Amino acid sequence: MARPAACLFDLDGLLLDTEPLHARAWRDAARSFGTQLDPARLLALRGRRRHDCADQVLAWIRSDGHRCDGREALLAVRQPIAERLLAQAPAMAGAERLVRSCYGLGVPMALATSSSRAAVELKAAPHPWLELIATRVHGDDAELGAGKPAPDVFLLAAARLRVDAASCWAFEDSPAGAMAAAAAGCRVHVLFTEATQNVVFPLGSVLLASLEEVVLSGYEQA
Ligand SMILES: [Mg+2]
Repeated sequence: MARPAACLFDLDGLLLDTEPLHARAWRDAARSFGTQLDPARLLALRGRRRHDCADQVLAWIRSDGHRCDGREALLAVRQPIAERLLAQAPAMAGAERLVRSCYGLGVPMALATSSSRAAVELKAAPHPWLELIATRVHGDDAELGAGKPAPDVFLLAAARLRVDAASCWAFEDSPAGAMAAAAAGCRVHVLFTEATQNVVFPLGSVLLASLEEVVLSGYEQA
């Protein structure tokens, strides 16, 4: 593909360095109920909606033989920890440059995130460049069907930009998110990290060690 019809960006772990903070919040919350979340469990939570993660952690707490009254009880412990940490999440290397580059070249952009609108507002507050991405699909979006790894987030983001998802570049960091983008037919760019170095991402994915590797120059001539 010479050029994307649009760039569809994940947020957590892709534009903002929130994944270690999300992991810490889930780990501390689970531990308060007696359950340990090892790296494999934490990786399985990555990229998914809060309620989907809560249901999974609840299942682990119960299968480990501990007690938790339900999703709300778990989130009541987890949310204050997460909000305190996430309000100060730094940007990923190259994220601001890439978004500004898309904006400058006139490449349409959308945010395709599992995070709720309120959570995005909290995390984005210190990063005004994120406002350049005006089209957004949130995890609690009224028009959204299933969360990642289902393709709905990316299909809805492309629809809102009035482009075909198959002509879009999607940027993801999580296995669930990459599966979602691939299922939507996007050209998937995966920012991989130490936590995902052994993950098999969808066939045809472009693997990136840093967003600084993404080159959109020449777009106007393409
Ligand atoms: Mg992510």
